[in-house]
Amino acid sequence: MTIKIIVAGPRGKMGSEAIQMIKEEETFELMACVDRKHNGKSLKDINKLIDIDVPIFEDPDECFRTIKADAFVDLTIPESGFLHTKLAIQYNIRPVVGTSGFTSEQVEELKTLTKSKQLGGIIAPNFAIGAVLMMQFAKMAAKYLPDVEIIEKHHDQKLDAPSGTAVKTAELIKETRTNKVQGHPDEKETIEGARGANVDNMRIHSVRLPGLVAHQEVIFGGAGQTLSIKHDSLNRQSFMDGIKFAIKQVMDLDELIYGLENILD
Ligand code: NAP
Repeated sequence: MTIKIIVAGPRGKMGSEAIQMIKEEETFELMACVDRKHNGKSLKDINKLIDIDVPIFEDPDECFRTIKADAFVDLTIPESGFLHTKLAIQYNIRPVVGTSGFTSEQVEELKTLTKSKQLGGIIAPNFAIGAVLMMQFAKMAAKYLPDVEIIEKHHDQKLDAPSGTAVKTAELIKETRTNKVQGHPDEKETIEGARGANVDNMRIHSVRLPGLVAHQEVIFGGAGQTLSIKHDSLNRQSFMDGIKFAIKQVMDLDELIYGLENILD
C-alpha cells in the first residue's frame, strides 16, 4: 500500500530533508506541499534538486480539501503547525508533527480531536531514535539519582526555548524522580537567569549558537559521582528514520500519540 503524504514547510531544513526521504521510500508518495510562498507553483520550480512535480498551496484548507492524502507531515513553526494539524485532522488526514513548541494545552486539544474521529497521529519533539533512548535512560537514572540538570544546545535559528526535547525529558524524569529542591536552600541568582529555567525543581539550560544542530546532555549528581547521558544530532538526517517510522505507524493508530518512544517497542 502506498501512503500518500502532504508536507508543510518544504523549503525548510527539516522539510527539504523529509521530502528527500519520502522520494526515496518506495511505499510513500508526495502529493502536495503547504508553504507560505509560491502558491500554485510546482515543488520542482522552487527546488531544482528535488525535482518532484507536486503543487504548492499557501492555503492549507484548500490543500487538504482538494488533495487526497493519508498523512500530513508538519515541519514549520508552532503557530502555523498547530493550525495545519487541526485542519488536517478535520479532513481525516493523519498528522505526523515534528514542529516543536506546541503547548501541553494544544497537544491535549489535538488529542481530543483525533480521539473523537478515531484517527491516528503522532507529535514528537524529537524524531532521532538516539535522542529517544537518551530520554528513556534519563528516566531510568532519575529514580536513583534525583539531582539532575538538563543542558540543551541548538542552532541559533531555533525559535522556541527550552527545546521540546528538554521539556519532554523533564516530563519523563518527573515520572520516576522524587521531587526535591536542588542546590543550596539559600541560593540566589546575582544575574537573573543564571540557574536556567525551573521545571519541577529541575533546571533546564538552553544554549543557542551557529554551528550547532541539536544536542542534549542530562547530568545527574550523587555523592561522589556524576552521570552524563548525552545525545548529538549531527545533521537533520538523524531525524528522518523516526519520521519514516512514524508515517508508517500512524496508519495503524486510532489516537494521537505524543512522543516517538510511545510507538517504539
Ligand atoms: P526552518 O529551516 O526555519 O524551516 C521552517 C519552514 O517553515 C520555513 O521554510 C518557513 O518558511 C516555513 N513556514 C513558516 N511559517 C509557515 C506557514 N505559516 N506556513 C507554511 N510554512 C511556514 O526550520 P527547521 O530547522 O526545518 O525546523 C522546522 C521545525 O521542526 C521547527 O519547529 C523545529 O523546532 C522542528 N524540529 C523538530 C525536530 C524533531 O525531531 N521533531 C528536529 C529538528 C527540528 P519561511 O522560510 O518563509 O519562514
